[in-house]
Amino acid sequence: MSKVVIIGAGGVGNVVAQKCAQLPEVFGDILLASRTQSKCRAIAAGVKEKTGRDIRTAQVDADNTAELTELLRHEQPFLVINVALPYQDLTIMDACLAAGVHYLDTANYEPLDTARFEYKWQWAYQERFKDAGLTALLGSGFDPGATNVFTAFLAKHYFDEIHYLDIIDVNGGNHGYPFATNFNPEINIREVSAECRHWEDGGFVTTPPMSKKASFECPEGVGSYDIYRMYHEELESLTLNYPALKRAQFWMSFSDNYLKHLEVLENVGMTGIEPVEFNGQAIVPIQFLASLLPDPSTLGPRTRGKTCIGTVVQGLKDGKERIFYCYQIADHEACYAEVQSQAISYTTGVPAMIGAKMMLEGHWLTPGVFNIEQFDPDPFMQDMNQYGLPWKVIELDSFDLA
Ligand code: NDP
Repeated sequence: MSKVVIIGAGGVGNVVAQKCAQLPEVFGDILLASRTQSKCRAIAAGVKEKTGRDIRTAQVDADNTAELTELLRHEQPFLVINVALPYQDLTIMDACLAAGVHYLDTANYEPLDTARFEYKWQWAYQERFKDAGLTALLGSGFDPGATNVFTAFLAKHYFDEIHYLDIIDVNGGNHGYPFATNFNPEINIREVSAECRHWEDGGFVTTPPMSKKASFECPEGVGSYDIYRMYHEELESLTLNYPALKRAQFWMSFSDNYLKHLEVLENVGMTGIEPVEFNGQAIVPIQFLASLLPDPSTLGPRTRGKTCIGTVVQGLKDGKERIFYCYQIADHEACYAEVQSQAISYTTGVPAMIGAKMMLEGHWLTPGVFNIEQFDPDPFMQDMNQYGLPWKVIELDSFDLA
């Protein structure tokens, strides 16, 4: 019952494989499957070197439900950990239903031809998973993932009602390249160039991308960073699950250099998702651009600095206004020393492993489709402290990024 299939052999797939392999008593048998099997084999060799464990590998095209179903029926794992790309979410969920396997992912479905990610497609699987007695755990990375759990933890232990939520994702790391993305370039650029949406007074408000900027001082000397308001998928589920929220915003740090490159690339059409004709061939500009940029899984040895990701929640406790900030600081070099990945992959892969552990241990196994904040945050928070992502909660006297 402790067999898992990990799908996707990128930066995050490497961390999930390494972290699962560190816990043989929970993850007894691990198969890493991806489109390019040589990448799985390279990760398996790294896992062997670090942990002494053998993990198996396979080639699979996760866009092909029949092919994946066959693999899952043959393997009969307890759970699929999906760390391929958001485009594969639905085909992997279909294969899990066909083969009777639980499901977990770190990013919500996004159609290839529309740069707009929404949960509606995956929430539509609710009845099918429930009827099959299977659990689909959505968004078990860092953001979404740990940030949702932080919100649920603060709401559970520090407040009677929560009113304002600010999720702040600072990456103070430097990889030395003029322009590179810390996770899949195509997904990253689609996300940051999208219109901004934030929740205010009962509905989403749309504003132009990167049009709202603030400065944020991270705790513990991580430094002060420019952060920009943008849309992020956890806002959709958190505002639904915490209906007393009056405002919910997501902020991410970007360097001037990153924004300058992005603006130029957008202006010349290199971030487009529609195919263009070039020398008799159809080329999707953003896919061509992604092929030129450094592979995020190679950034590890060059990245120095820290990430600081957390949630500031304001609300009422015993009739009094309170403000609490729950955050996690990760060090790029320490992550690389442990699993040979930079902190962005690390902070995504560890919560994926912990979410899988929650399911394998039966803490989070209600049949149906669930966003991560719908489960009890306490065992997950305990495991974050134990498995490499220690966090803190502090009270703030005042807070305003609005
Ligand atoms: P990478 O691009 O490094 O890796 C993606 C992997 O998926 C590659 O190995 C790729 O194969 C494989 N893949 C793509 N298509 C298929 C397919 N059809 N069948 C099988 N395998 C396929 O991405 P990352 O590791 O950086 O990110 C992985 C996921 O994590 C993404 O969904 C991303 O959005 C999510 N993420 C979530 C975060 C969070 O905090 N919640 C933060 C960062 C990332 P190939 O090698 O052949 O290209």
